[in-house]
Amino acid sequence: MEGFIEWLTPFYEALSTALGSFLDPKKRIYFPYLISALILSLLYLRFANKATRSLSFFQYLKYLFSSKIWAHPSALVDYKFLLFNSLVKVLLITPYLLAHTAFAYVVVQSWEAAIGIKDTILWSPSAINISYTILFLVLSDFSRFLLHYALHKVPFLWEFHKVHHAAEVLTPLTLYRVHPIEFFLFRLRSLLVFGLITGSFFFWFRTGIEPLSVLKIHAGIFIFNLIGANLRHSHIPISFGNVLERFFISPSQHQIHHSVEAQHYDKNFGSIFSIWDGLFGSLFISQANKKIAFGIEKEEQTKFNNFWQSLYMPFKNILNKIK
Ligand SMILES: [Zn+2]
Ligand SMILES: [Zn+2]
Repeated sequence: MEGFIEWLTPFYEALSTALGSFLDPKKRIYFPYLISALILSLLYLRFANKATRSLSFFQYLKYLFSSKIWAHPSALVDYKFLLFNSLVKVLLITPYLLAHTAFAYVVVQSWEAAIGIKDTILWSPSAINISYTILFLVLSDFSRFLLHYALHKVPFLWEFHKVHHAAEVLTPLTLYRVHPIEFFLFRLRSLLVFGLITGSFFFWFRTGIEPLSVLKIHAGIFIFNLIGANLRHSHIPISFGNVLERFFISPSQHQIHHSVEAQHYDKNFGSIFSIWDGLFGSLFISQANKKIAFGIEKEEQTKFNNFWQSLYMPFKNILNKIK
């Protein structure tokens, strides 16, 4: 009996990790972020969309929580990925999370080995913390862009990223519809960026760093989550307009990234900033209130409609290509 309970522990932990995401400010689906997304959606339906302006509050809720979206077979696959990736996290990723600080230490040592111990740069603590906060946000976002770009442009990586793009309806939980290999790559990216920036700051300033934060998370990411990051994966096409969309990715722009239309392929890779897309020629400005169909080419779509199939299909596709 004890052995059986032990065997069940990771499953229990995975379930509590998945459900705990709604209560964790570090997670995009933390419930206050979802509530702010709901408020923004209601404002959009009431004031920014001519077609829905005259509907009642009850009709708005029906529109937002339509079973055609939330109970769509594609959404069910998203939920399974949320649970499965939580299990992957419990079994494979969390045991290595401590590596974040260890890697920062390696970076400090590499600096020392390369140029020796230097005099500390004397900046005020607030100047150090503000520069760290900004640099971390910008470099972290750029590294996300680069990895996302590679997931589309490198053929074998695209096979894994297809899992995310095969979503035919978008809900905030589609964020978790990623193949475990992609999940791992993003975790690795986070470890490398954190280590490089934190280690370098420690080497040059020889002081502990406190990024500007709200609820113990980076202030920039908190704001990003609070102003509707969840609507990127939704059927609410909020755009920021011609000018702002050149600097920040709007929900509508990420929905374009998920579009089946050929003109939208490989556009808008950015997370927070769209300047990277501008520099790499992949920027696509959204058109207000345009309806978009989501997914990938029909032939591939059917291969990724099912959870278990989505797990092994990338490997099968890669093997077929090698043959
Ligand atoms: Zn993508
Ligand atoms: Zn997406």
